[in-house]
Amino acid sequence: ALTIGIVGLPNVGKSTLFNALTRQTILAANYPFATIEPNVGVVNLPDERLDKLAEIFGSAKILPATVSFVDIAGIVKGASEGEGLGNQFLANIREAHAIAQVVRVFEDENVVHVDGRVDPASDRETINTELILADMQTLENAIPKLAKQVSGKKADKATLDAYLEAQKVLEEGNTVFSAASSLDMEQLAGLNLLTAKPQIYVFNADEGVLGSPEKQAELAALVAPAQAVFLDAKMESELVELSEEEAREMLELNGLEESGLDQLARVGFQTLGLQTYLTAGPKEARAWTVPQGATAPEAAGVIHTDFQRGFIKAEIVSFEALVAAGSMNEAKSAGKVRMEGKDYVMKDGDVVEFRFAV
Ligand code: GDP
Repeated sequence: ALTIGIVGLPNVGKSTLFNALTRQTILAANYPFATIEPNVGVVNLPDERLDKLAEIFGSAKILPATVSFVDIAGIVKGASEGEGLGNQFLANIREAHAIAQVVRVFEDENVVHVDGRVDPASDRETINTELILADMQTLENAIPKLAKQVSGKKADKATLDAYLEAQKVLEEGNTVFSAASSLDMEQLAGLNLLTAKPQIYVFNADEGVLGSPEKQAELAALVAPAQAVFLDAKMESELVELSEEEAREMLELNGLEESGLDQLARVGFQTLGLQTYLTAGPKEARAWTVPQGATAPEAAGVIHTDFQRGFIKAEIVSFEALVAAGSMNEAKSAGKVRMEGKDYVMKDGDVVEFRFAV
């Protein structure tokens, strides 16, 4: 499964957030695997469509899609110099598919800030600098080798050009991800650069920021094109201890529409480039995860490899059309259920039944 690595300076609330995430993991009744690693939190992707499907099909169970987070502990400053823990820290980030960077914006004089003051821009720079330095090292090693291969006609010049462009971006102090629209990311993919990974910024905030759209807009602009999530890690750790109803009341009391963890799951899922399709029947209403752009047979393969191998066609109705029709039969008589073949590209919210031969 694709994972999101959680990083950040000491004392910004990483553990608090991660504990809330893992607590949610334990509570998530549908997580069937016994081997939950201690540094992995698997959270449900909130999806109200599943409740509606369960209603229509009389499903006994609801199984949402999930998002996995990995706690990447370790010192940050000097990590790129490659000593001990620093090396491990970078290796762990390299394994993740996206990075969620926790940044402190809450004020609390009882919680010491490593640099003596709350300064989100500088904190972000501290972390990104380490990642940028590590990537510069990677490129410094790769470029001369590749240049030799290019002059020997054993490698593509376009790849070398992409490496040099990326190097320029890094030298200017920017992450590859932030410049993704102007770089040839496909040529860079083989390097698995740390700063090429999609990033999410998790601003650990208090009421001062959570209640201020202006402050949020300012912080969001600071990190764009990366996505920003605003939450109060302490409140999240309390929310997961409450019943669903109590949690809803507490959110309302704070003028919030959804929990920070739900927000983080949604943004994380998107950032990983994933989408869901839905299946439903009397047994269960379920969301399945596929990469954006997956074809119908690939989607079938997520349920079972036999489904992909023996794929014949997919019977598909959009969630909205199904709900508007009221039932599968009604949707069929209204001509809303389509037969799609092996070239069909799945859309988020497709309700699907696969036809296959074994
Ligand atoms: P980490 O070093 O990044 O893992 O940070 P911790 O999660 O251990 O948090 C450091 C301290 O900050 C702890 O005393 C937490 O209770 C406190 N803390 C974490 N999140 C918040 C928050 O949202 N608001 C406030 N006021 N304190 C927080």
